[in-house]
Amino acid sequence: MIASGTIIFYSFITVAIAVAAAILTLFICWLVMKSKRVVLSKASYQALIDNNEKLADAERRANDANKAKSDFLSSMSHEIRTPMNTVLGMNEMILRESTSQEITDYSENIKHAGNLLLTLINDILDFSKIESHKLEIVTAEYNLSSVINDIYTIVNPRAEEKNLCLNFKNNPEIPSLLKGDEIRIKQIIVNLINNAIKYTSKGSVTVDFDYEKLGYNKIYLKVSVADTGAGIKEEDIPYIFDSFRRVDTIKNRYIEGAGLGLSISKELCILMHGEINVESEYGKGSVFTISIPQTISEGSENVE
Ligand code: ADP
Repeated sequence: MIASGTIIFYSFITVAIAVAAAILTLFICWLVMKSKRVVLSKASYQALIDNNEKLADAERRANDANKAKSDFLSSMSHEIRTPMNTVLGMNEMILRESTSQEITDYSENIKHAGNLLLTLINDILDFSKIESHKLEIVTAEYNLSSVINDIYTIVNPRAEEKNLCLNFKNNPEIPSLLKGDEIRIKQIIVNLINNAIKYTSKGSVTVDFDYEKLGYNKIYLKVSVADTGAGIKEEDIPYIFDSFRRVDTIKNRYIEGAGLGLSISKELCILMHGEINVESEYGKGSVFTISIPQTISEGSENVE
């Protein structure tokens, strides 16, 4: 009896020791695995921090370089504009005084190239101002009819040069006095009409001024510029508002341009809380539309 009791006792002790050893082994394995995981995650955490620092540093340097580029473009275009205006002014004197056809022809060439250069410089100046968030929208009262007249006076000579029919239509019910940035609105519309003329070899350019009521003293000024020109391929449309981007470059290789006009126009529309859209059929023509909120000025006619 004693012997079998002793055997049972020792067997029990042995089993208990085996179970305890198994539990201890499992516990040690778990500890080892856990500590490895901690070491691993600590390493990857450090790598993550290092990467983030590198990224932040790269972003800082890219922003600094971009700012330096914008500042350089802005000050250079400013500096070039002054002597360029003098050259064009003096050339105007030559055109007026010249009695020789040969000199007049040379002078006309200087005028054409000088004006192109001035447009480019102005575009670069606007582009760099927009990039560095320094372009401000200046709101003041203006008369819409005189803006429309100014635009017509600016663009009509070019349409005549190309024998294009230039039509201006306007809804007579648009409130006559508005508040907004007339200079920037004019700039966008002139740019769209100049493009329409530039990319149209025959037919017409039609500019339509309309509005949509927006609250009691606000309207959306809606202007569309339609042409019967080259049109834009569907796949090119998403890119035409990108800066320095020209599309269909083989067909348009003899047409001057830097690919800045539409991107500046779009940015100006956004700054004025408006939008710009385009519909185009390749080979048939395009319609560019802008819609910009403007305040109706007190004393304006045609206010319902
Ligand atoms: P660009 O100085 O080249 O005219 P824009 O930014 O004004 O630059 O226009 C970008 C591109 O969009 C042009 O290069 C041209 O391919 C296309 N585009 C713009 N307006 C028209 C239009 N009315 N008809 C056809 N293509 C146009």
